Amino acid sequence: MAIRSSVNILVLNPGSSTLKFAVYRGDVRLADGTIEHVSSDATAEAIRKADGASIEAVGIRVVHGGSKLVKPARVDGAVFEEIRRLAEIAPLHNPIAVQVIEDVRRLLGDVPIVAVFDTAFHQTLPAVASTYAVPADLGVRRYGFHGVSYSYVSKRLHDLGAGSRLIICHLGNGASVCAVHDGISVDTSMGLTPMEGLVMGTRAGDLDPGVILYLLRGGRTEEQLDELLNRRSGLLGVSGRSGDVRELEKAVREGDPRAELALEIFAYRAAKYIGAYAAVLGGVDAICFTAGIGEHSAPMRRRICERLGFLGVEIDEALNDAAPKDERRISSGPTAVWVVPTNEELEIARLTRNELAR
Ligand code: ADP
Repeated sequence: MAIRSSVNILVLNPGSSTLKFAVYRGDVRLADGTIEHVSSDATAEAIRKADGASIEAVGIRVVHGGSKLVKPARVDGAVFEEIRRLAEIAPLHNPIAVQVIEDVRRLLGDVPIVAVFDTAFHQTLPAVASTYAVPADLGVRRYGFHGVSYSYVSKRLHDLGAGSRLIICHLGNGASVCAVHDGISVDTSMGLTPMEGLVMGTRAGDLDPGVILYLLRGGRTEEQLDELLNRRSGLLGVSGRSGDVRELEKAVREGDPRAELALEIFAYRAAKYIGAYAAVLGGVDAICFTAGIGEHSAPMRRRICERLGFLGVEIDEALNDAAPKDERRISSGPTAVWVVPTNEELEIARLTRNELAR
C-alpha cells in the first residue's frame, strides 16, 4: 500500500520500564505520553490516549535487528519471526517488542506496522570495529545500539554545520558513544548486547571476561549473573545508593564519597572512549551530548570535558550551566561541544513514513 505523507503515525517506544508513545502527522506531534510500565494494558492505554480511531500506521522501536534486519521493515510474518528469534541475544529487549507488536495487531487489526531497529544505524561499522577477537564460528559480533537516537542527532549536527568527524555521547540510563564519519557510524561502544562500553545506571559496561568466569566458578548461576550485571552494577553498584545521576549529584553535595567515585568512573570511561574515537576518526570536529544525563547534567558534561583539553575541548561554563531545552553549542575552544536533545519518537515517525512511502 502506498501511503500519503499526511497519515497519522502512532509511534511506540517500549523501554525496559516505560512505554513512550506519540502521534505524528508529518513532523507535527499531535499527542504524546509515557505509560510507567510495559504490558498489554500499557499498549491499550497508549492507543486509547493516542486516539485509536485516527491511527493509520504504527512505528515501533525494536532494540535488536541482528544481521538481517538492517533497515526499517514493514512487519510481516518473516520480520516478526526474526524479531522473536533475536530474543536469544536480546532477552531483555526483543520480547517486549514482540508483545507490543502482538498487542497492536490485536487492537488495531491490519494497520501497517513498521519496525525501526536500534542496531540498524550501525550496520555501516567496518569489520575492524564489529569483529570480536574470538573464533569466527562462534557467530558473535558487535552490533551497537541507540541507533534511532544517533540517526536523529547526527542529522541535526549535519544541519547545524558541525563538521564531518563527530563523537556523539548518548548518556541516559543506558549509555553509549558513537563515532560518526560523514554521517555514518564507524564505531560504537555497545556490542553484541547493550552491556558493553560505558558505565551505565545499573550496568557495568566494559568488564574483564575473567570476572564472569570467576563468578561462575564461585557458584553464581546464569540468572544471578544477569541480574548482577544488568541491574545491580554500574552507578548503582559503585555508589551502593542509586543508578540515577540526579540522586548521585545530590549525594555528592552532601559529601558521599562513593557517589563521587561512581560519577568519576562514569566520566572517566566516557572520556576514554572519546579519546579512542578521536583516534578512530583521525581527529574530531565536534563532540555532542544527548539523552537524560547528556542533555541535563551540566556537572557531568564538565567532568567529562575537563579531561579533554588535549583535544581542543574547552567548555564555556556559562553556556554549559545555562539550562535552555534547545540545541546549543557550549564550548569556547577549537573543538565544538554541542548539546542536542534527542527525539527518538520523531525519528521513528520519519523512518516509518519513509518505509511506507517506498
Ligand atoms: P532512558 O535510557 O531510560 O531513556 P534517560 O535518557 O531519561 O534514560 O536518562 C535518565 C538519566 O538522566 C538518569 O540518570 C537521570 O538522573 C538523568 N537526568 C535526567 N534529568 C537530569 C538532571 N536535570 N540532572 C542530572 N541528571 C538528570
